[in-house]
Amino acid sequence: MKVAEQASLESLNTFRVPARAALLVTLESEEDLLSLPPPRPDRDLLLGGGSNILLVDDVPGTVLLNRIRGIDVLERDADAILIEVGAGENWHALVQHAIAHGWHGLENLSLIPGLAGAAPVQNIGAYGVELSSVLRSVTAWDMQRATWAVLDAADCRLGYRDSLFRSHEPDRYLITSIRLRLPLPFTPRIEYAGIAEALARDGVTGSPSAAQVSQAVIRLRQQKLPDPQQAGNAGSFFKNPEVGADTAGVLADGFPALPRWPLADGAVKLSAAWMIEHCSLKGLARGGAAVSGRHALVLVNEGHATGAEVWQLATEVMNRVEDRFGIRLEPEPRIYRAPGARAERKP
Ligand code: FAD
Ligand code: NAP
Repeated sequence: MKVAEQASLESLNTFRVPARAALLVTLESEEDLLSLPPPRPDRDLLLGGGSNILLVDDVPGTVLLNRIRGIDVLERDADAILIEVGAGENWHALVQHAIAHGWHGLENLSLIPGLAGAAPVQNIGAYGVELSSVLRSVTAWDMQRATWAVLDAADCRLGYRDSLFRSHEPDRYLITSIRLRLPLPFTPRIEYAGIAEALARDGVTGSPSAAQVSQAVIRLRQQKLPDPQQAGNAGSFFKNPEVGADTAGVLADGFPALPRWPLADGAVKLSAAWMIEHCSLKGLARGGAAVSGRHALVLVNEGHATGAEVWQLATEVMNRVEDRFGIRLEPEPRIYRAPGARAERKP
């Protein structure tokens, strides 16, 4: 366990905005966790790779950096392998490790930044696949009850970029490991727009291998997304809103080109990127923050933005979209301590 006082968090969040923690504790084992005073969610903050958070304020208490590592095989049969992954494992490295070992199902989730422990928090998803398709259970320290908890996937209430950990019981569970059941036979998932074309450009004919699908996804992402090393960002800043069929119908009459995707529960998912572009907000800058010129969903730190400037820009985008479409966009990253930013806790 490492401990630092008055620590800078600038290199620990991919927005690269300045912020400080009164105390920074790096957890390397479960024993480290148990030797600490009980975390206080009102003052302390759990951090993985810092790729889905906007720090608008300093942390008055302790930032707990989860670096508990390990990838263990628990069971194997003809169809699948069950693995336990420490929360501090790098997600993309895990995906590559799985592919190298012939364990499948994670290829489409290649190159998502961050650590394995945060993957259930927003049920990470990309290119038509979500963590929910392979997650078996989550092991966590229940900070409310000061006890260990094992939550089956069904208890994690995984939804579209959502979970129990994000919306229903935020800051209650400190995730220490996740269990994944990964199929051994490979079934390519290449129906999502762009993957088949990227494979064809790579000269892949017939059924692709898992490594080829992963490479195609990596290249697509590198082409489309601003690299946080070049311009700080947290990926998509806004979730695609989900509305009822009636609202979707009204919007379709007014804006026939607005992309819409019907969901299994009857709701309709709308393209947040299209709405932002339609309001001519791409490139809009406030202080050192801007709506990326490459990707309307991504807000970037163009150099010396503060978290407050990024949040001011985000609020302006949300207001302008709401004025035009009557839909309030919801931020996808956690907004740490901006006035009025706390998402409502779901029952
Ligand atoms: P952090 O940002 O450190 O934390 C996120 C939240 O989880 C915080 O609320 C934190 O308190 C909580 N948390 C972190 N660790 C734990 C833990 N061990 N226990 C309990 N709570 C914890 N996301 C996608 O879903 N799909 C994508 O395709 C995608 N692409 C991205 C591309 C870029 C360029 C970037 C910068 C981000 C992208 N993201 C994407 C968002 C982000 O990478 C993921 O949400 C990722 O899972 C966040 O992991 P992290 O370790 O960085 O979490
Ligand atoms: P894209 O492929 O250009 O698609 C733009 C948006 O349209 C995405 O938000 C996607 O929703 C939605 N979409 C496209 N086809 C869809 C379909 N058949 N059904 C339902 N929704 C559909 O997006 P992109 O920005 O280049 O990203 C590619 C993938 O990586 C997407 O899955 C995206 O979610 C993921 N990604 C996520 C982040 C993040 O921070 N969360 C950052 C970068 C990329 P979905 O988001 O639901 O897929």
